[in-house]
Amino acid sequence: MTTTAFFGLGNMGMPMVKRLLAAGHKVRGFDLAEEARTRLAEAGGTSCASPAEAVAGASTVILMLPNSDVVEAVIMSPEVNDSLTSNSLVIDMGSSDPFRSQSLEHQLRQRGIRFIDAPVSGGVRGAQNGTLTVMAGGDDEDLLDASAILNCFGTVKRAGMVGAGHAAKALNNLMSAAHLLVSSEAILAGQSFGVDPSLLLQIVNDSSGKSGSTENKWPNFILSGTFNSGFALKLMLKDMKIAVDLADRVHSESRLSHAAIQLWEEAAANLPDNADHTEIARWVAATSQGSIVSQR
Ligand code: NAD
Repeated sequence: MTTTAFFGLGNMGMPMVKRLLAAGHKVRGFDLAEEARTRLAEAGGTSCASPAEAVAGASTVILMLPNSDVVEAVIMSPEVNDSLTSNSLVIDMGSSDPFRSQSLEHQLRQRGIRFIDAPVSGGVRGAQNGTLTVMAGGDDEDLLDASAILNCFGTVKRAGMVGAGHAAKALNNLMSAAHLLVSSEAILAGQSFGVDPSLLLQIVNDSSGKSGSTENKWPNFILSGTFNSGFALKLMLKDMKIAVDLADRVHSESRLSHAAIQLWEEAAANLPDNADHTEIARWVAATSQGSIVSQR
């Protein structure tokens, strides 16, 4: 089994590390947060005091970090640079910017380091259960090399060359965010008309309006009142912006997406910094002086 360096032991990273450990892989992890490093040691991984210590001797480096800024700062830092083993494989599994991933791959390749993008969908539960969808972009040979690791997390779908995984992920989340927003408006309107939200969800989930929002997010995190999916609203907004930037750069029309971003931005400005993305439903209700309460 290989030794993997893992950066970003947060909501997604930690359960993913546990999947690797359960499959017999050795994991050397680093996170800025001390509590996260302690949790890694408790789970049976090697907690490292610095990024350089984590990558030393690792053949694979997994990044599960907030965005491209952090990814580049970590992997391009002089200390990591000096410690990376030649020909090692860097896998960015966070939701980063596809154009920046392509440029990063180019820079790493010149130093003899390989790079693929393999972002995921399926949330914290998918990370815990190993049922994520892994959207991979990269060379055939590199994807083959990564397969024993990526298979620990769920089902791998190849999107294309480097950057294509990150493009697919951002576009997926743009659709997901738009569904969540429009379902919030529709369920609120239905409730005002007298249709109970749970009943409307049951009907929609047997009909053509269903989505991941109506099947999962509404029953599990919104009507339950928990708003604790483990995916931050600001991360969803980041993904929407990546997707719309991609559309703009390839000259693809996306007027509805731009309008959706405006509303999500307004919500982000009015909610706490750490708000869960499912809070968008509560925010939509609050802006029309209402709340969504199921009677069932
Ligand atoms: P998170 O905020 O819970 O975890 C991020 C972790 O990175 C934190 O523990 C933070 O301390 C650490 N970190 C930040 N800067 C660092 C640095 N320089 N060095 C080392 N560690 C650093 O976020 P998350 O929800 O786990 O998401 C991680 C990535 O996965 C994001 O790109 C997100 O968009 C994506 N994603 C999240 C979900 C989800 O449901 N939460 C699902 C799919 C994809």
